[in-house]
Amino acid sequence: MNPSIVKNFIYFPIQAIRGEKVKPYLNELEVLEKCTKEILFKYQQEKLKQLINYVYNYIPYYKKKFQKLKISLSDIKNFKDLAQIPPLVKDDIRNNLKYLINPTLKHSWRSTSGTTGSPLIFPKDRIATAYMDAMMYEAYSWHGIDIGDKQARFWGSAVKPKDKIMQWIKDFLLNRKRLSAFNMSDKECLKFYHKLLKFKPKYFYGYVNAIYQFALALERQKIDATELKVQVIICTGEILFNYQREKIQEVFGCKVVNEYGTTENGIIGFECEYGNMHIMPTVYVEIINPDKNGFGEILITELNSRSIPFIRYKTGDKGKLLNTECPCGRPYPLMEIHEGRIHDYIRCPNGRLVYDTILAYTFKDYVWQFKAYQEKIDYLKVEVIPKEGFASELQGKLKIRLQKYLGQQMNIKFIQVSHIPFEPSGKFRYFVSHL
Ligand SMILES: [Zn+2]
Repeated sequence: MNPSIVKNFIYFPIQAIRGEKVKPYLNELEVLEKCTKEILFKYQQEKLKQLINYVYNYIPYYKKKFQKLKISLSDIKNFKDLAQIPPLVKDDIRNNLKYLINPTLKHSWRSTSGTTGSPLIFPKDRIATAYMDAMMYEAYSWHGIDIGDKQARFWGSAVKPKDKIMQWIKDFLLNRKRLSAFNMSDKECLKFYHKLLKFKPKYFYGYVNAIYQFALALERQKIDATELKVQVIICTGEILFNYQREKIQEVFGCKVVNEYGTTENGIIGFECEYGNMHIMPTVYVEIINPDKNGFGEILITELNSRSIPFIRYKTGDKGKLLNTECPCGRPYPLMEIHEGRIHDYIRCPNGRLVYDTILAYTFKDYVWQFKAYQEKIDYLKVEVIPKEGFASELQGKLKIRLQKYLGQQMNIKFIQVSHIPFEPSGKFRYFVSHL
């Protein structure tokens, strides 16, 4: 479909009916992007004041919390004062959901993918949803992408017939073609490639590993994927390693942009045309317990969230705030995302904790795909889809390389397989600990 038809006659009217005023928020964010840091600060400060006022008056969970901690409204005047409020974790939401909801607000239910645990099911009110969408399209516009532009989507896929129909309708109305991460065989990837040649997507959007596997599948089949003439590829949902970024860029001949976001809060960080990750003005990011390099736990305060409010919410990711300026001139501060999530590490017999990213770096040149399982403290089973030459000599070398980090007592066994499934969400998890 013509992108402007999708934008003006489908997207905006549907959002308006749902009560999600994306258009005015988009205008607001467009203005903000060109303002000074001082104006941005005032804008966010005002939003924070409204949020705290709101939760104090309408959200029983916070009313009680403030009472218990003897916090009065006047105690939270700025972002620094926020530190008086304890961080919010997923279990707080699960255990207090009915006290976090404002029943007078319209909302839709959402669920996280649950890749690293059980999914979190929570409501999102219309205003917060509309701001999330507006922020997304504002950020996409940095790379020439507009609402309604043709998108190739690399994501999970509905399983139930009714959900499948809804998904198909939504994809059709929003000008998207989807490749299910559940079915990424070379044959399916080739079929999807031919579909895209006709569809001519302006951009790709999806999980890092699904897009990466699509690139590898086309490369294996000696396809010149630059023929697709894709303008930009937006990767999200998983850690984007440099080697993956380089491979995707090489195969499709276009820029790869990293998006950092959560289902709960929408986009948090987004790379601009200079490759720097800016923090979105719709959230306030804090870093707590930083290590010696400045990387610490990320806390998000979503400034427009009402039902449910996210104040100092722990995302489970690690990041760092940067003090550098970006040549793009946007007033939004910069951040960097750490390659390891807080809980994804390998426990070693020698007592060490090693981020699972070591696995990705060790195997990247030798396997098409891998998934490691730690079944015992001293046993790591690694399923691999090997590239050519994955002989026992190479396996021995890889074990030695890994043992340098994991210790000599760690037993490592390779199992060659022809298929490794993605998670039910469509994300790919390359390390699973059973400890
Ligand atoms: Zn920038």
